[in-house]
Amino acid sequence: MQKEIDMLDVQKIREDFPILKREVNGKPLVYFDNAATSQTPQVVIDAIVDYYSNYNANIHRGVHTLSQEATDAYEIARKKVQNHFNAKHTHEIILTSGTTHSINIVATGFTNLLAKGDEIIVSALEHHSNIVPWQMLCERTGAILKVIPMNEEGELLMDVYDQLLSDKTKLVFTNHISNALGTINPIEEIIQKAHNVGAAVLIDGAQSCPHIKPDVQELGVDFYVASAHKLCGPTGVGLLYGKEEWLNKLPPYQGGGEMIDQVTFEKTTYAGLPHKFEAGTPNICGGIAFGVALDYMNNIGFDTIADYENELLDYGTKKLLEIEGLKIYGTSKNKTSVISFNIDTIHPYDIGSIVDKLGVAVRTGHHCAQPIMDFYKIPGTIRASFSFYNTKEEIDILVEAVKKAKMMLG
Ligand SMILES: *Cc1c(COP(=O)(O)O)cnc(C)c1O
Repeated sequence: MQKEIDMLDVQKIREDFPILKREVNGKPLVYFDNAATSQTPQVVIDAIVDYYSNYNANIHRGVHTLSQEATDAYEIARKKVQNHFNAKHTHEIILTSGTTHSINIVATGFTNLLAKGDEIIVSALEHHSNIVPWQMLCERTGAILKVIPMNEEGELLMDVYDQLLSDKTKLVFTNHISNALGTINPIEEIIQKAHNVGAAVLIDGAQSCPHIKPDVQELGVDFYVASAHKLCGPTGVGLLYGKEEWLNKLPPYQGGGEMIDQVTFEKTTYAGLPHKFEAGTPNICGGIAFGVALDYMNNIGFDTIADYENELLDYGTKKLLEIEGLKIYGTSKNKTSVISFNIDTIHPYDIGSIVDKLGVAVRTGHHCAQPIMDFYKIPGTIRASFSFYNTKEEIDILVEAVKKAKMMLG
């Protein structure tokens, strides 16, 4: 049965984002760098102002009223994150400083769980933050890193994945959606096949969460990580979801306040989940605002968001391809609203600078995914990534700006 999807009223939504009213270089801002960070709606800004204006205090420590209010709000936010990702237990949600922090907790935690010769598998489509921590883990343990290669369309070669898997495989890591190309990876299949050989799986959801609402129980995934700042929330906060049995197996990442049970100079015992992984004073305000951001997006609805963004993707792809010499990297049928492209041999940076003069914010460079650029033998791309608050009119402005840049540089 076809799901009923509400139409998105983009003009009304744009009213929620004060930054979209500003000008850049005398032109209305066209913000197409959503894959790097999303913009912040007024309700989230208000939550931040409210926290610092009315109940700023340290949590889990004081008996005084402000501390209790802050603690309650922070724990309500954790519940919201739990509900959003459909984790079984609230204590399976660790609030971190973001995706990178979350991955490092897991990669460091596996140090004593791997032996020399064990294998871990990553995908060729990874962000550096999902490559480097595993390389460091391999250096510490003598484990071997294997890579699922990609094809010209920017899709993973799943038959090679089948061959890489064996009883030596202990861990598999991949993003759900590539930030550089927008490819949606078949994570259900990746998880299932890893579990068939007894390997644990970490999914980097930093790029998928703005478009798709994940269900960690249905996926059966062992670890799932994401950042609030790509989900209309603030920077410096994110989550690590881990299955309870895995989080109990991993040692704490940092020592400090908040993560202990009893401390003496002879021996310290650790607090239970989730506090074991939350040493020190967390980003309290950020956590609370993250919860508000999830409410905001859920109110619009992720099906509605995905539907509208796909429309923008189709429109943008068609319009950009009308420019002669323009090549799009990442042409999988399964992709989200990210368009990575180059024109002839013009350096992406030069085009990025000119379109910025015209008020259009795009990303240029390797997008923290150098191995992908090496695959295509290019220094980088121009990346336009669309969010639900963008419009077709803005895409027209981008296309005109790119044409102008091409004329000036070609
Ligand atoms: C943005 C991003 C990251 C890194 O997130 P941080 O918030 O910088 O820690 C990791 N993986 C993917 C796929 C991303 O898009």
